[in-house]
Amino acid sequence: MNVNKLKIAIQKSGRLADDSLKLLKDCGIDLKNGVNKLKTESDNFPVEVYFLRDDDIPQYVEDAVADIGIVGENVVYEKNKKVDVVEQLGFGKCRLAVAVGRGEGYDDVSYLKGKKIATTYPLLVRQFLEKNKVNAEIHEISGSVEIAPGIGLADAIVDLVSSGSTLFMNGLKEVETVLQSQAVMIRNKQLGAEQQVLLDRLLFRIRAVKRARNNKYILLNAPNEKLEEIIRLLPGMKSPTVLPLAEAGWSSVHSVLSENEFWDIIERLTAAGAQSILIVPIEKMVM
Ligand code: ATP
Ligand code: ZN
Repeated sequence: MNVNKLKIAIQKSGRLADDSLKLLKDCGIDLKNGVNKLKTESDNFPVEVYFLRDDDIPQYVEDAVADIGIVGENVVYEKNKKVDVVEQLGFGKCRLAVAVGRGEGYDDVSYLKGKKIATTYPLLVRQFLEKNKVNAEIHEISGSVEIAPGIGLADAIVDLVSSGSTLFMNGLKEVETVLQSQAVMIRNKQLGAEQQVLLDRLLFRIRAVKRARNNKYILLNAPNEKLEEIIRLLPGMKSPTVLPLAEAGWSSVHSVLSENEFWDIIERLTAAGAQSILIVPIEKMVM
């Protein structure tokens, strides 16, 4: 029988490879460890996973060789293929940045006027220069962009940065952000109805995984006279669960906290009299 499968393209090896596989795994999709590392399948979800170079993924998705793909926004927008971006995935975060020699006096983008800029992202750089009304010369090179200024090939570079340590080691400083990027799910524009149903099922799982990754389950003990104040500090999903403790005058409070407000709220909870605070990771979160 010919079962309909959702064909997913992910990076074969590199910075997105492990996180892409991890995401599928966290969505409950177990992949067969075949000898053939070009593609694999799953026994418990109708997918076929193709392992490709990230740069090729937008083209494969445009051509419907793959239905969907996981790739950095930087690659999606540079390749400029006809695909839809359907979901940001929360990993592979980096920025495409302009960097110049650390000793340069840089005030604003007008510094780049008439300069040579080395990059592997000629389209995004051209759009950035046009937006800022700056004329500069773009030198497209295929790799090791960060050494270009040092060897006299360029005055500035536009490259991907996460920590900035590569720039630092090469005597460069970051001066502008061209694009903030993270891994996204892209989709073929003419996806068939059956494939769309499979994609919707996958996206439902991905959203539950993303929500779980961004939230923690919190349990704490509160003296009853402080309960109201403590509950007010907890945003929760709806309202927190409050259970009486065996010890009179105390309650146990359960709620959910998002990662980004986490430490701030913990500090205020302790200050308000909360005790024995337990923080537990959440496996999945379905709303
Ligand atoms: P491939 O062999 O698949 O072409 P690559 O060398 O082009 O791999 P990687 O270096 O593995 O690509 O990066 C893949 C993606 O990871 C980038 O396109 C970007 O979206 C993301 N990324 C996150 N942080 C960084 C970073 N600090 N430097 C480069 N890429 C990063
Ligand atoms: Zn690549």
